[in-house]
Amino acid sequence: MANSTTLFAGVKLGRFAGLAMGLSLAFVMGVGCVSGQTDDLGDEDVASSNMTWEEFLSVIYQEPDTGIYIVNGDTPIESRRELEQFYLEYVVQGGLIVHRANGVDAKWSSSQQTNITYCVSSSSFGSSRYSTVVSALNTATGAWEGAANVNFVHSSGQDGNCTKNNNNVVFNVRLVNSGGQYLARAFFPNQARSTRELLVDVTAFNNISPWTLAGVLRHELGHALGFRHEHTRPEAGTCFEDNSWRALTTYDSASVMHYPQCNGSQTGDLVLTQKDKDGAVALYGAPGGSAPTCAHDKCVTGSALNASACGTVVQAVCNSNAACCSSAWDSSCVSAVYSAGNSVACSTGTCAHSLCTTGAKLTSGCDANGVVAAICAADAYCCTTGWDSICVGEVASIAGKNCN
Ligand SMILES: [Zn+2]
Repeated sequence: MANSTTLFAGVKLGRFAGLAMGLSLAFVMGVGCVSGQTDDLGDEDVASSNMTWEEFLSVIYQEPDTGIYIVNGDTPIESRRELEQFYLEYVVQGGLIVHRANGVDAKWSSSQQTNITYCVSSSSFGSSRYSTVVSALNTATGAWEGAANVNFVHSSGQDGNCTKNNNNVVFNVRLVNSGGQYLARAFFPNQARSTRELLVDVTAFNNISPWTLAGVLRHELGHALGFRHEHTRPEAGTCFEDNSWRALTTYDSASVMHYPQCNGSQTGDLVLTQKDKDGAVALYGAPGGSAPTCAHDKCVTGSALNASACGTVVQAVCNSNAACCSSAWDSSCVSAVYSAGNSVACSTGTCAHSLCTTGAKLTSGCDANGVVAAICAADAYCCTTGWDSICVGEVASIAGKNCN
């Protein structure tokens, strides 16, 4: 509970605050009591980059029954090893990663996006809460289904055995008592089945006005579709979490994914805005439609490319120059495949063939970026005998570039 303290700490502690923020407007606006956990997070020392691993570990909530760690309020991290990685990259270095997408959109495949099955644990909720949460889930899934080409399917036949071990569903929904750590928490599409639980806290069944349970679930199902907290964007000015995301629309302070207490502008229930709907379409296509496709090769100029459909390099290019994905894919976009995407896929220059395919030896200096020269300086074979698979591999291992 007690997130009035958390809110203050969040504002005060700036970029680290994401760790402390809960999905907890109800407590900010209502009567708060202060938990020890929140007090710990209010300590200035906690935000220090000098915080030791042990200190960091002591303020991170770990769900007792799953062992999963919760950061950024309601975001699960699956293992101790990943939490260590998060600590090293986010706390020590100031670099960042919460959900491990390796630069790839965490989204459902085109076949999975229209068949996202789930069960609702009848035993954990009990009959009264069960019917309440099933109804709220129907409302919340309907909101996303009405916005984009996604479809959630309640597999009610699995409700009697609705745990993280049930592999007949994509995710399960069950009741927890987190001691007020969160109202609910979800997962991202790239996470393992054992993490793909939508956990609803007992407090979510209280009066959480102006929110509703359905509103909270709209937010959580947004995570389940891959959407990040909107307030991690710099325009929010607070509650920064990390940079492991890609923009689908311009900033939206009223987004269903934006905590109101992080300079958000949504004052009522958590509902999908037009930009939420537009962003969902950008990722999954329009309702009833097909998934977006990649219109043309990234190495040639032409129409704007769809970053969701065209892969990680196009995503990187459009992160650096949004026009490449909104107006036209011009020569500067092709050049940015190397400069922003770190890819030599389009950098053949005067070389006899692509650096990314095996073939005849290449001539040092044949590409404009010096990648062949760097590789041949370390491995002369590639420029004297042949460009074999080892040379192709050295695009990454020696030159630090990729062939994506
Ligand atoms: Zn959230």
